Amino acid sequence: MRFFDVVVVGAGPGGLVAGLLLSRSRAHVAVFEAGPSFERSYRGETLTPGTQQIFADLGLRDRIWALGGGDPSGVAVVVGGRTYEIDLVGDPHKRIRQVPQPLLLGLLAQEARDAGALVQMGTRVRGLVHDRDRIAGITVVEGGEPETIGARLVIAADGRFSVARRDAEIKLLPTRVPFDLLWTSGRGSGRRVQVIVDEGEIFVAFPTTAHGAQIGWLIEKGSYASIRAHGLDWVRERIARALARAHEPIEATIERFDDLSLLPVVSEIAERWTVPGLLLIGDAAHPMSPVGGQGINVAIADAVVAARTLAVAVREGETDTRIDELLRAVERERAPSVRRIRTQQNILPNLLRTIGPERGLAFLGPLARRLVRGGNIPPPLRAAVDRFLLGDPPVRANHGPWITQPVATKFL
Ligand SMILES: Cc1cc2nc3c(=O)[nH]c(=O)nc-3n(C[C@H](O)[C@H](O)[C@H](O)COP(=O)(O)OP(=O)(O)OC[C@H]3O[C@@H](n4cnc5c(N)ncnc54)[C@H](O)[C@@H]3O)c2cc1C
Repeated sequence: MRFFDVVVVGAGPGGLVAGLLLSRSRAHVAVFEAGPSFERSYRGETLTPGTQQIFADLGLRDRIWALGGGDPSGVAVVVGGRTYEIDLVGDPHKRIRQVPQPLLLGLLAQEARDAGALVQMGTRVRGLVHDRDRIAGITVVEGGEPETIGARLVIAADGRFSVARRDAEIKLLPTRVPFDLLWTSGRGSGRRVQVIVDEGEIFVAFPTTAHGAQIGWLIEKGSYASIRAHGLDWVRERIARALARAHEPIEATIERFDDLSLLPVVSEIAERWTVPGLLLIGDAAHPMSPVGGQGINVAIADAVVAARTLAVAVREGETDTRIDELLRAVERERAPSVRRIRTQQNILPNLLRTIGPERGLAFLGPLARRLVRGGNIPPPLRAAVDRFLLGDPPVRANHGPWITQPVATKFL
């Protein structure tokens, strides 16, 4: 039977950063990913300045920037026949960056492998190994053959539908979110993120992502089936009508229903992130709303804190009791931060639902512009902006038991 200090389930942003940092800390790590490659449909692509700082701490920021993607120069809010342009000025490293997720994951996987981790693709984790009251490993299926793999510790980073979470019988506690998000791709040459209010509905458009322009339509929760029932031409026409109002030209390229991708929006947090021998991180612990583009960033912050807290203990063969204490310490450190971010994410949609998108954004658009132009943001708003951009509190990777430079560079 193969045995590792740490087995990570899932090679998304959270799982790969955990695998990378643990292996740079000289723990014996394996990451198992169900997908055969990193090609995936819509996912969050927003790296906040806080996450960019984490990658800078790890000597990876310049290479991640070189992967391409978008560097929006501002936001345009189009509402009630007016456009409010909000320019983001200053150091580009302090702005959000859209990075194609397949390329980012490919780079992180290579870095983890260079540092000694096994990153095994096309291997679905079927469940956890229960040894009396502890999780002692996983079972995987690769090419039809089941295999049991032992581990001191399992980190579940297998996303919102986590198999590990289900197997450990950990429940999710939901918060009500009033909308779902319908994504599609398109073409556009602008530099701004656009928020367009049309006929009482909200559309968002990101200029450059892995999919060309990315266009989102916030629809009433659970209403996709009735929208689909209108037929493809109706949907195309509805989106085109809204995009005709755009400040920077943008058009959707929809040829079939498969070009639309529904994100059923949830905002949930696990009742507990850990049982003996198992830790949940990222979407496995807290499927996030897309508001503020927080998903990848919070998953990566979880991974940094988990690796910092656990690497030495698993590497040095500390007792199970000690490791389980440290697992609870990770939850204690991260869960309050995730709750604060989640509360903030839910304020805006609930506000807009209560007072209506037209009135809400007609008020918020000019307010945001005034605040950013003046550069003088009142402290409560500054704290809210920083919470999204930097994390609450910010997590850094410049200290920990790991090598901060890429292993390949260090030995050149
Ligand atoms: C369709 C969709 C659209 C999204 N859009 C946005 C957005 O616009 N903005 C935003 O901020 N966030 C968005 N998100 C959320 C964002 O992508 C996630 O918050 C972020 O990727 C979380 O990272 P993670 O590492 O925790 O999990 P994930 O990125 O979900 O990675 C989990 C990984 O685990 C793998 N896996 C799952 N089950 C198994 C198994 N049994 N065995 C082995 N591997 C397994 C998956 O294949 C996946 O690679 C979206 C998510 C989805 C699903």
